This record gives sequence, C-alpha cells and structure tokens, in this order.
Amino acid sequence: MASLLRIALQKSGRLSEDSYQLFKECGIRFDYGTGKLKSVSSNFPAEFLFLRDDDIPGYVEDGVADLGIVGENVAVETGRPVQTVHKLGFSKCRLSIAIPRGVDWAGIQDLQGKNIATSYPNLLGTYLAGEGVQAEIHEISGSVEIAPSIGLAEAVCDIVSSGSTLLSNGLKEVETIFRSEAILIARPALDADKQALVDKLLFRIKSVQAAKNNKYIVLNAPNDALDQITALLPGMKSPTVTPLATEGWSSVHSVLNENEFWENIEAIRAAGAEGILVIPIEKMIY
Ligand code: ATP
Ligand code: MG
Repeated sequence: MASLLRIALQKSGRLSEDSYQLFKECGIRFDYGTGKLKSVSSNFPAEFLFLRDDDIPGYVEDGVADLGIVGENVAVETGRPVQTVHKLGFSKCRLSIAIPRGVDWAGIQDLQGKNIATSYPNLLGTYLAGEGVQAEIHEISGSVEIAPSIGLAEAVCDIVSSGSTLLSNGLKEVETIFRSEAILIARPALDADKQALVDKLLFRIKSVQAAKNNKYIVLNAPNDALDQITALLPGMKSPTVTPLATEGWSSVHSVLNENEFWENIEAIRAAGAEGILVIPIEKMIY
C-alpha cells in the first residue's frame, strides 16, 4: 500500500486556523470541524488527526503521527525527542514572568524563595536554574494569571502576546524567558517513502512562505533612469524591462522582498519611477 503521511494538528485553539490555512495554501484539501477527529486529504497522500496541542509531541514521538504542528513552547516543555523540521511563522508569542503591578522589580533575583505559578514547569525550571534562582514552582494547567490575586503565588510565568490578559489581572511583565512560534515537528527516522512526502510538503510550505514575504512590483521608468532603478529592484534573476508605447519610457517588473521594497521606495521614486504597483504573489518556486 502506498504511504500515507499522518499529520497531527490542534483541533481547536490558537494554532488551528493558521495550520488549516497553511495546508489550504499548499493546495492540500481535507475536511475539518464539526467534531471530526481525523480526515484523509482528497488530493495529497495525507491523513490529518485533530488533537489537543499538548498531546501532539507525544503522538509524534510514538509514531501515531509522522508530523505535527505545535508551538515551540509546547515542543520544548514536553521534552519529547522529535525533530523540528521547519518554523512556520505564526502563533508567535512569548513566555514571560509577571508580578503584581504594585510590586517593585529589581531583577530575576527577586524571585529567590518565591512561589511561581505556571503551566511550563520545565521551561521555567531550566531558566531559573540558569539564573541561579531557587523558587517554588507550582504547576497549574490553566488560568495561571489569577494565581497572585487568590494568594497561590507571588509571580506567574505564562504565555503573553499582547499583554492585555496580564493587564486585566493587575500584573506586569518583568522578564521574557522564551520566544515561540508554530513549528512543524517530525518523528525521527521516517522511512524513505514518508520522508519523500515530507520533502514534497516542505517544498510547498517554503513556496507559500516565500510568496508571502515577497511582492511583484510593476512601475514605469524614464529610460535614462533605468540603470539606477533596476539596481534598486534586483528581482529573482534580474528585472524585466519592456518599452512603453510612450517614447523614452519603459515598464519595469520585478519581485522584491516586502521590507526591501519599503526601504527602497523613496529612492525608486526619487529616480523618476511612476505608476508603481505592488501586487501579492500566490506561490513562489525557486
Ligand atoms: P488545547 O485545547 O489544544 O490544549 P491550549 O488552550 O493548550 O489548547 P492555545 O491557547 O490554543 O492552547 O494555544 C496553542 C499555542 O498557541 C500555544 O502553545 C502557543 O504556542 C500559541 N499561543 C498561545 N497564546 C497565544 C497568543 N495569545 N497569541 C499567539 N499565539 C499564542
Ligand atoms: Mg493545550
């Protein structure tokens, strides 16, 4: 029987939508939602399993799934021997220590002998050990941010993105101990057939990511400024230059990293470029 790649995704939570979207953009179709626990793709040899995120590294280690998408925070916390295949760039967040807003903070040594509530005892323990701080770590599985107000702990260590949850619980962020984003993890030592499928998937993921970071640029340039303008638009090989119907002008097409575009835009305009269009790219194959 031909190989079927088994891929574990978070059923519903902060990783789910972007994970589903990523496969959609890779042209891999499958059904999800309405309480489904698994689903076979209709156009790629893959079966998707929908799970709690905490369970995904374990299932990947045990070989129940070949691949999974989790936050790096969860991958490191669970300590399972899985390999990180690729960073995915979404679900970015940080793991931070926070204390009540009215309490002074001089540095991490302030936590010496204190109680800290967290769902990440391993990450926090490693960090504190590295700083030479001895503290009591209380592992709780959710609603960590209320621990100080109910007298359970003097500090918390929790996931932060905007900081609004901390703020509404009267806490302030004092130290970031870990930065995380979604990653694709794999079972080590996949057989050759499955590895070939992983490579195929990874090729698509990289094409989708490259397209997101780049824009297709079209502009009109006076011919005497072409050298100057094309130097600012390197493109995948070099820009395409075609004459316009108007004498003395050309149309220039190129692909540019979006950040580079914003950095060069003033120089491009100052050189005489007009009618500049910035167009999204759907896929980008190197
Ligand atoms: P599950 O029910 O699957 O166990 P959960 O409640 O443990 O879900 P979520 O809150 O959905 O987990 O978060 C999943 C992952 O998304 C986290 O481990 C983290 O990597 C990332 N994450 C958490 N909070 C945020 C946030 N506010 N912004 C962006 N990413 C986040
Ligand atoms: Mg979870």
